[in-house]
Amino acid sequence: MILKEKTAIVTGSTSGIGLAMARAFAREGANVVINGFGKAEDIESARSGIEAEFRVKAVYSPADLTRPEEIAGLIKLGEDSFGSVDVLVNNAGVQYVSPIEDFPAAKWEQIIALNLSSAFYTMQAAIPGMKVRKWGRVINTASAHSFVASPFKSAYVAAKHGIAGLTKAAGLELATHGITVNCISPGYVWTPLVESQIPDTMKARGMTKEQVMNDVLLAAQPTKQFVTVEQVAALAVFLCSDAASQITGANLPMDGGWTAQ
Ligand code: NAD
Repeated sequence: MILKEKTAIVTGSTSGIGLAMARAFAREGANVVINGFGKAEDIESARSGIEAEFRVKAVYSPADLTRPEEIAGLIKLGEDSFGSVDVLVNNAGVQYVSPIEDFPAAKWEQIIALNLSSAFYTMQAAIPGMKVRKWGRVINTASAHSFVASPFKSAYVAAKHGIAGLTKAAGLELATHGITVNCISPGYVWTPLVESQIPDTMKARGMTKEQVMNDVLLAAQPTKQFVTVEQVAALAVFLCSDAASQITGANLPMDGGWTAQ
């Protein structure tokens, strides 16, 4: 177990990729702070499930990461509960699809605040403790959209390109402090969010489920397979290992070949 006696905070970990990462860190012995929105009973069942299954401690923070004033409290919860924050994953993110001229300003502001600025504020709060302990791992969930664009996703693409740049700058700044900063950039990952889009797309385009999956969702993904949340989480665990100590400032694609094209 590579994370025994360490603490991991994963933003946006009440579902999808973030929850898989929190569970994978707990499996490696870390105490975890989970965060995000959802039904209280679902969140409590995810939290207590982690404690029961992996024999670690898990606490939940309801911090809204679009609000910088709530972010300091998220990091403090980790430090107060477990004595340190050693692994920080900036994973919370949302999407909105619209032509630029119709893109609601509030949606632009929300996506930049959540998908980009929140990572700046969490790092600002967590790095001082990591520097004192001379060890830290910051992992940012970016996206294939940190390398390439798609139309109608202007805010998401801008934020994801931005987080790749923030990752490089932070990686350089912290290179001599035992702290690595990297992005994982998935292509399409099989999450409830993706699955739930299928019925509407089937109806809207008159397609079968297989057609929606292959011709719409996986159109850009050469392997024609979804990435799994467990695969993304396994890469995050690897980035926490000693074997990954010389990987920093990197943006690692896990996209079935999408950005090789
Ligand atoms: P998801 O919707 O399952 O998870 C998003 C999480 O963020 C949830 O826990 C949600 O409650 C939380 N969240 C939303 N708004 C928040 C806020 N204001 N404050 C705190 N938490 C908030 O989605 P996912 O697919 O697991 O996405 C996780 C990350 O992976 C995102 O950054 C997303 O851009 C990225 N990503 C996803 C895919 C994919 O195909 N699913 C592909 C590439 C990148």
